[in-house]
Order: sequence, then structure tokens, then C-alpha cells
Amino acid sequence: MQKIAVIGAGTMGNGIAHVFAQNDFEVNLVDISDEALDRGLQTITKNLDRMIKKGAIDEAKKEATLKNLSASTDMALALEDADLVVEAATENVDLKLKIFANMDSYAKPEAILASNTSSISLTQIAAVTSRPDKVIGMHFMNPVPVMKLVEVIRGYATSDETTKTIMELSEKLGKVPTECNDYPGFVSNRILMPMINEAIITLFEGVAGVKEIDTIMKLGMAHPMGPLKLADFIGLDVCLSILNVLYEGFGNPKYAPCPLLVNMVRAGKLGAKSGEGFYDYSEGPKSETVSPQFS
Ligand code: NAD
Repeated sequence: MQKIAVIGAGTMGNGIAHVFAQNDFEVNLVDISDEALDRGLQTITKNLDRMIKKGAIDEAKKEATLKNLSASTDMALALEDADLVVEAATENVDLKLKIFANMDSYAKPEAILASNTSSISLTQIAAVTSRPDKVIGMHFMNPVPVMKLVEVIRGYATSDETTKTIMELSEKLGKVPTECNDYPGFVSNRILMPMINEAIITLFEGVAGVKEIDTIMKLGMAHPMGPLKLADFIGLDVCLSILNVLYEGFGNPKYAPCPLLVNMVRAGKLGAKSGEGFYDYSEGPKSETVSPQFS
């Protein structure tokens, strides 16, 4: 396995492309516009420079990594000789089904088709292809160059051979691949999202304020950040959509999204990316100022 195509040059796609290229794979990064590709490549360059500053890599490694990368808006051409395609496009079921049908028709029959989806069923995605045994979840964490985990998700028809190949490949990237089966939220979000939702319910019911909830969970549980801050970073729209996948997938009211979360998303308060969520980010992403709504 040498040639990798990555679909989507956004937050996750450029990180995935970066990690493969840095580990000597030839990577073709695909997006729908040249602007998205340029942004993705700029982010990779910036992150490589940051790694040089920290002494993690040298200038030669940066150059070699960039040399392994190419970018294209032509998916058919980019997938022609790929051994593995990792899809990291926008989290939307209809879009992913369309992309996977295209990936299946453009990639060679023996190529593995992986998705970085946070919550969409791999079994459903695999069903639109002619090779469900070669479709698998490769759920990298954000930021990809830093985070060690790859949650490897087996769809209903994913073969042992495909799983073994992806587990070994993830190790070659310096990651810790961990296998699970394809049920709503997999393992990571099935456990994380109810915790975030419960933190929002705790705020909604007036049990404690934003700072208090986050401080209790951060210092009391040794979490690197509190659940409300984490929700702001993930994006409140993303949290809501994953909770809806859990709620609909299990038909269990314990996953029902808190009405406060629903309202915040409706109001466009999506967290750090929109400038406001539980915290106010008008002064930058490191803000510790609680949003005026909650102060
Ligand atoms: P993003 O919005 O930053 O990037 C998505 C990219 O996909 C955009 O550049 C967009 O132009 C591109 N795109 C859309 N349609 C396309 C198409 N037809 N062909 C090619 N490219 C297309 O999103 P993201 O945060 O990078 O998320 C990507 C995937 O990774 C999602 O499935 C998400 O659930 C998953 N994920 C995200 C995170 C996270 O923290 N952001 C963590 C783990 C997994």
C-alpha cells in the first residue's frame, strides 16, 4: 500500500493527508475547489513549521512531506491508482453516499475505501458500493498529527483482511488503532456525547454555571478541558447531529439532545467556529470568558 487518496481538505482531511505524507506515502488530496485545496495545503505547511519549531522534525522532513503531497479537484483522476481512499468530506449522509458510489466506480477493485465519519453507519455507506467487504471506518481524532487514536470501525460486511490491513497501516502512521463494531456513535461518541449532553442539561437545569461545570469535570476527573468547552471546540451543530444519530439509532430517550443545545444551534451559536457558544471567542480561541448568555 503506497498511494493514498484523501477526499476533503478541511480540518480532518488535511490532517490525515499530512500524517500519511509525513510517513512516506504518496498522497493525493481531493476537494471540490482549488481554494479549499490551497487552504488545506497551507494548514499542512503551517503545522509542519510548528513541528520544526518544537524540534519534532527538521527542514528536510518538511520538504519530503510536502513532496509526497499533490492536490486535485478531479476525483476520478486522483483515485485511478490509489490503494486506499480515505473520505473526510462534510458530515452529511446523502453527500457521503454519493461520494462513496463515485469512489467505488473510480478506484481500482482491490482498493480499500475508508471513511473518517464521526457517526454515520459504515454498513449503510458500504451498501452503496460493490465492495462492502473493503469498506471500513478510519476515525482519526482532531488534531490528526497530534492525537494517537484511530477508531477502526468494522461495518457489517467488512472483512478480517481489510481490518487487519487498516490496523497495521494505522500503526505505521504511529497511531494506536482500536477496533470496534458499527453501531450508532461507535465507542468514542457513544460515550462522549451523552457526557456533553448531560453537562448541558446540568447547566439548563441551573445546577451550576458554565465555569463551575467545566472546573468540576476538568480538575475532578483530570480531563484536559471541561465538557462545555470541549463541545464549543467540536462545534455545537456537530454535537447535536451526533446526538440525533444516537437518539434515532437506539430509539432511547436517554440520548435526546438537551433543548438548550437545540436552541443554541438554531440561534447560530455553534461554539468556537462561530465566535460564541458556552464561551465568548471574540478575543480568540483560547478565551475563558463565559458567553454573556450564561454569565
Ligand atoms: P470540514 O468542513 O472542515 O471539511 C470538509 C471538507 O470536505 C471541505 O473542505 C469541503 O469542501 C469538502 N467537501 C465537501 N464535499 C466534497 C466532495 N463532494 N468532494 C470532495 N470534498 C468535499 O469538516 P471536518 O471537520 O474536516 O470533517 C470531515 C469528516 O471528519 C466528517 O465526516 C466529520 O464527522 C469527521 N470528523 C471530524 C472531526 C472534527 O473534530 N472536526 C473529528 C473526527 C471526525
